[in-house]
Amino acid sequence: MADYPIEALGGLTPLQYASTPSFDRLARMGRSGLLTTVPDGLPPSSDVANLAILGYNPAEVYEGRGVLEAAGSGYRPGPDDMVMRCNLVSVSPDGILTGHNGGGVTAEEGRQLIALLDNRLGSDRMRLIAGDRYRHLLVIKGGSKHIVCNAPHDHIGSEWMRLLVSPAVNAPDEPGRMSAAATADLLNALIKDSHHLLSCTGVNKRCCADALWPWSPGYPARIAPLASLWPGKIEAGAVITATDVIRGIGHYAGLDIIDVPGATGTVDTCYEAKARAAIDALRTHDFVFLHIEGADEASHEGDLGLKLQAIERTDSRLTRIIVDELNGENSDVGIALLPDHFTSVERRVHGSDPVPVTIYIPGVEPDSVDAFDETSCAEGALGRQPAREFMELFMQ
Ligand SMILES: [Zn+2]
Repeated sequence: MADYPIEALGGLTPLQYASTPSFDRLARMGRSGLLTTVPDGLPPSSDVANLAILGYNPAEVYEGRGVLEAAGSGYRPGPDDMVMRCNLVSVSPDGILTGHNGGGVTAEEGRQLIALLDNRLGSDRMRLIAGDRYRHLLVIKGGSKHIVCNAPHDHIGSEWMRLLVSPAVNAPDEPGRMSAAATADLLNALIKDSHHLLSCTGVNKRCCADALWPWSPGYPARIAPLASLWPGKIEAGAVITATDVIRGIGHYAGLDIIDVPGATGTVDTCYEAKARAAIDALRTHDFVFLHIEGADEASHEGDLGLKLQAIERTDSRLTRIIVDELNGENSDVGIALLPDHFTSVERRVHGSDPVPVTIYIPGVEPDSVDAFDETSCAEGALGRQPAREFMELFMQ
């Protein structure tokens, strides 16, 4: 949700411009501040930001997007696996990377293409695992994660053969694993073979998925369950989300993953069902992490109207229900509201700036902040905090 001032909105941010009475009500009930969710030196990605918000140090535990999504999709990596996110990408006839999402490949087409590629190019060492549409996974038994890969969405318009995988400088020798150079060779052969198969053999007539593109390598994550970090405070936690990467973080954090029918991860998600699921989950859980993706998707599409709609729907169809329900006389439920990171709707990329946060705890004196946005929250009693403080503040 967080964003920068936009000229078309009279210099306001989307959060300031949108009508958000329930966010603002929560801000009036609670204490607000700014939270740095992307630690210095790390990319402003959802996985890094959400790990940080949950109190983990991403510099220590972050193993890349692949292992988190694998866990989120139900695959349990073995100890010697190296897991990567693997996109279906589009490449022009003159060798330019033109798309990170396989030319809008559908879920069914994506599954079929990955099954075909795994069948033809997979081996005992290397396996493709189908995910959703253009987002898939690659597992290499004994592969090295010490390789340099390029995230496809950051390199649209580049010559794709310049973006191939290379071994990291000073890659360590790891007993029982391939060298970084051998891993890079294996991956580059896979990229080229997949391009040959998809674009030259005619198996792929309906969409522009032209090649596999593996990136974000990592080993199985070592993340302590939240219950072990907050004994007596969190005995049972739950996560509600439509995205595999947040499901994966939830899995490693020891949270129960609650599936909500109608939750899509888009602006059209069923907000009411997610709100109800969170309220229900609080009957059996101490802690519920409820994740809404729509505003981020709208930002990547560069669609300001859609982003405003996503924000207003999150306010009126989700936050309103939760605040109404949990703000009763005898309620002992605390509520925190925050974006995971900035996503600029004008530039269509994430940003590392500190995000606004409001924490409401029954019985705690509110501060004077009366609106939930990037500048109002900066005046709040919580001040500016590093992400690891969020769980501390919330759990207190
Ligand atoms: Zn995003």
